[in-house]
Amino acid sequence: MQVPFVDLKIQYHSIKTEIDSAIQSVIKETAFIGGKHVKQFEMDFSRFIGIKHCVSCGNGTDALQITLKALNIGHGDEVILPANSFIATSEAVTAAGAKVVFCDADEQTNNINIKLLEPLITSKTKAIIAVHLYGNPADMDGVLEIAKRHQLKVIEDAAQAHGATYKNKMIGTFGDVACFSFYPGKNLGAYGDGGAMVTNDDELAIKMRMWANHGRIEKYNHEFEGYNSRLDGLQAAILSAKLPFLNQWIENRRTAAKQFTQQLKGLPELIIPKESEECYSVYHLYVIKTKERDKLQVFLKEKGIATGVHYPIGLPFLKAYSYLNHSLKDFPITAKNQKLLLSLPIYPEINKEQITYVTEMIKQFFNEKL
Ligand SMILES: *Cc1c(COP(=O)(O)O)cnc(C)c1O
Repeated sequence: MQVPFVDLKIQYHSIKTEIDSAIQSVIKETAFIGGKHVKQFEMDFSRFIGIKHCVSCGNGTDALQITLKALNIGHGDEVILPANSFIATSEAVTAAGAKVVFCDADEQTNNINIKLLEPLITSKTKAIIAVHLYGNPADMDGVLEIAKRHQLKVIEDAAQAHGATYKNKMIGTFGDVACFSFYPGKNLGAYGDGGAMVTNDDELAIKMRMWANHGRIEKYNHEFEGYNSRLDGLQAAILSAKLPFLNQWIENRRTAAKQFTQQLKGLPELIIPKESEECYSVYHLYVIKTKERDKLQVFLKEKGIATGVHYPIGLPFLKAYSYLNHSLKDFPITAKNQKLLLSLPIYPEINKEQITYVTEMIKQFFNEKL
């Protein structure tokens, strides 16, 4: 049996009529940049999140960078973010001109470790970026409490967490701004690049819109130099067509995660993800931990099962950040986890038989080893 890591084709075929007609209408109207489909998706997505403004842009990385710019965060400022994330989170900070400050992970969730956060704050700290890694919400009470005490901005990197909730409140509504990615493999994915920022702050929404559009509100009236970062009409129409299915897809991911958990629990060599009571995870990824990670990954590949590692090198240990001179000792939890993490295949259309096959092969691996 073959189990791919994600399967975007199967999803397209399940909503082919909706997607094809969305694409056709954009072409018929030649509404390629801006226009009604982009406006419509911004309305649809802000309604889905339950927030006042959605400002679309070119991708999730841009969303983070534009957010920092609109918040006036740049040269001389520091931004704290988790040591385990995709590089986009830290890249955006540097691109905005500010300094990245890494915070080690929480052992269980791999999200930002609230207990280690406060000592990292200096007089230069301006913001905290909380990443809802794997689709599992970060400890937002902890983040907001510390941010409030030190008057810091809070940015949610929700690139992996469309539709997740924390204490029954939608992810994306906690920070000053939340940033989303619509990269095809994300839980709400376009057929190309796409991103968005959401906020309840009227003034900030205008600023972010200007930053994403050459620093202008009107056609040739530029108040400052911004960027060219746009969600195109085709992607917007596709996203609007897909959005009504998102809650069902989340349910399917959670059902798949539950099956993985039931069938994998009790294996002594394996740590499985544990969802805390206040978190409703959307399982962008289902990440297990084992000391046998590398061997297990090869074994599963031989059995036709694709897996991933998120992430094999913690951000502070990447060559890109060698200038910060960090060692493994600075971030012991991230250093330990990066050798253990293994992401199993998960997507809304994965079926029971595939999951059972994956878990049977994992059990077989540990049986043969013992
Ligand atoms: C995907 C991702 C991003 C960047 O999104 P792009 O649309 O690919 O630029 C940022 N942060 C995290 C955590 C991501 O997973």
